[in-house]
Amino acid sequence: MHYSILPTISTLVNEKQEKLFIKPITEGKWLGSASMSEPGTGSRLWHMISYATKNNNEYIINSFKSFCTSNNFNNFYLVPVRVSKDAKSNELSIFIVESTNKDVHIIGKWDAMGLRGTSSNPVHFKDCKVPPINLLGDTENAFPLLLMSVLPIYLLGLSTVYLGIAQKAFDAAVSHVEKKIYVNNNEKGSEIETVQRYIGEMQIKLSTIRNTIYKLAKTLNGFNLYLDQLYQANLLKKSLNKIQDDSLFIELAEIKVAACEMSIEVTNKAVQICGGTGYIRGHVVEQCYRDARAGSIMGPSDDIMKVLIGKKVLGYPFPWEI
Ligand SMILES: Cc1cc2nc3c(=O)[nH]c(=O)nc-3n(C[C@H](O)[C@H](O)[C@H](O)COP(=O)(O)OP(=O)(O)OC[C@H]3O[C@@H](n4cnc5c(N)ncnc54)[C@H](O)[C@@H]3O)c2cc1C
Repeated sequence: MHYSILPTISTLVNEKQEKLFIKPITEGKWLGSASMSEPGTGSRLWHMISYATKNNNEYIINSFKSFCTSNNFNNFYLVPVRVSKDAKSNELSIFIVESTNKDVHIIGKWDAMGLRGTSSNPVHFKDCKVPPINLLGDTENAFPLLLMSVLPIYLLGLSTVYLGIAQKAFDAAVSHVEKKIYVNNNEKGSEIETVQRYIGEMQIKLSTIRNTIYKLAKTLNGFNLYLDQLYQANLLKKSLNKIQDDSLFIELAEIKVAACEMSIEVTNKAVQICGGTGYIRGHVVEQCYRDARAGSIMGPSDDIMKVLIGKKVLGYPFPWEI
């Protein structure tokens, strides 16, 4: 999450904000959260409900964000909200809100099925007052910029996380069958043909996803510089449609879905291979199986991604283009 919001911040900051916000980030002193999803719209991240108002010399944010990874140990939140109560659902202002702000309230204790260390519970920005210096960029470009700067690195980042989870489960399963001996015939777990087949299937999935991630990472390299140049030259808005049509965006959406589905499949097989041992709470494959389940839910969910990809193939507009 932290890495996915950095391109937006670095593209939008002015000179004064650069000193204030970029410096502590590059020095490794500031960790950020992305506060996008809201309970009313969930994974339809293109539709914000909450808003900010301007009062004298400050902004007042009223926003309930349903999941914010790294709250409790972050230093700031990146918070997109509607420009005003009456603004359109994607006419946005993007704020940086320090976690020390007394109007920021973390709701409850994070107690999820997996990813239990992420502290991703809801955060309420209640009449949250922030100075104008915390508003990033102009409102006209905010939504396209979020799409173009957060989404690519987020989708690729998420894919790598779920590849890592699957790889960890795979390694644990391999290690398990190499040690396991069936005493009735002195057979090793790794000698069982069904196990060999599972391992082969898992290896194919892992390699395919890994190779695609590397390929896309190379293509994405330099994309943020390109964004920055477009923004500085005032060409960002004009370029939006062209960039969204870019096959790179579709490929990134595809790899997110494929990596998350692969992670569920591979961790599931790892539990199967390890038998009852893998089903015990605290075993590596048990933890990976629970962690892997989150990927397909993470917004934009796999379901939504598939619909969006289908729309693109069939020539229908995206929901935010209507
Ligand atoms: C561990 C974890 C960490 C998270 N961290 C963050 C974070 O740091 N920042 C942040 O902003 N958000 C975060 N989220 C939120 C996440 O990105 C999703 O937005 C959220 O989980 C989905 O919203 P929801 O629970 O309201 O589900 P819903 O949006 O209600 O979705 C429920 C189901 O309906 C399906 N669905 C809904 N609409 C459509 C549609 N139009 N087409 C097809 N299917 C549809 C979905 O695919 C899903 O299966 C996190 C979520 C989790 C689980």
